Amino acid sequence: MFKYPRREKLAFLPTPIHKLDKLSKLLDGPEIYLKRDDLTGSVVGGNKIRKLEYTIAHAIDNGYDTLITCGGIQSNHCRATAFVASKLGLECHLVLNKKEEPKMEANLFLDKLAGAHTHYILSEEYESDLENLLKNLKEKLDQEGRKAYIIPTGASFGIGNFGYIKAAEEISEQCIEEKLDFDYIVTAVGSGGTYTGLSIGQKLFLPKTKIVGINVSDNKEYFVEKIKKISKESSIYMDREIPIIEENIHIIDGYVGLGYAQSKPDELKFITDVARLEGVVFDPVYTGKAMFGLVDQINKGTFKKGEKILFVHTGGIFGIFPKSDMFNFEE
Ligand SMILES: *Cc1c(COP(=O)(O)O)cnc(C)c1O
Repeated sequence: MFKYPRREKLAFLPTPIHKLDKLSKLLDGPEIYLKRDDLTGSVVGGNKIRKLEYTIAHAIDNGYDTLITCGGIQSNHCRATAFVASKLGLECHLVLNKKEEPKMEANLFLDKLAGAHTHYILSEEYESDLENLLKNLKEKLDQEGRKAYIIPTGASFGIGNFGYIKAAEEISEQCIEEKLDFDYIVTAVGSGGTYTGLSIGQKLFLPKTKIVGINVSDNKEYFVEKIKKISKESSIYMDREIPIIEENIHIIDGYVGLGYAQSKPDELKFITDVARLEGVVFDPVYTGKAMFGLVDQINKGTFKKGEKILFVHTGGIFGIFPKSDMFNFEE
């Protein structure tokens, strides 16, 4: 038995596994299935809530009453954290990268609706000095009598990773129940925690499955180092070492496109096509790019007929609304 840290039950689990029949047929390649982690909740939906279940339990058990986290103006992670905080009666502070104008819509609107405090930081300072910004805010809040807990970007760190170790176990149980067997699990990689958790979980529960990540920011080298680092952090909370070494890390680079959270017309066209073909919405920042990459790799022969792929739909639907003007629906 693998022993998990305590978890605060917040997500609707297990999430279903759906086959993308029409897309699989159209590509005439591997069978593609979706792990519907976009259905972990409504306003807390997506992958972050799995990581937050362990993160929040850890914070509460250690006496914290305030959460500090960070991300882009349209961060899904910040939105999920804001609602978890309101549900559990914690104060929430969001340090947001003011790379774009903070328009009160989609995720940012929901942050405010949930009562989160927002701190807008100019992009240059955010990118060069994030750690100090978070620390200084914590010190200020602590001086005011709060006890503030810093959750790093995307809750991709030692304790947060357990959310996706647990998801790998969940998938292994579904494989038995539903007589499925996946050659690959594919996920978008943004801050690395989903990939890291799945990788550790793969070693424990899915010995025949390869975990493949498609990065939507930075590059492969950056994530290989990050995944190694945060997998080590998790071992602090485990009764055994499950090292993730470079040979275990399979990142396909090349689909960042114009940059993190920047969309190209062909990516948006792809999201539109899949919505119409399968009745599923991928988001422009993460799942849309990763799935776009996966389909391209299928067309290039990296994944083959006869194989089975489980793509993790990590959520992000609110991220599509600020980009609605960029979609081109010809009648
Ligand atoms: C954060 C996020 C990801 C990336 O997950 P990481 O664990 O940060 O790599 C993927 N999809 C969506 C919708 C996200 O919000």
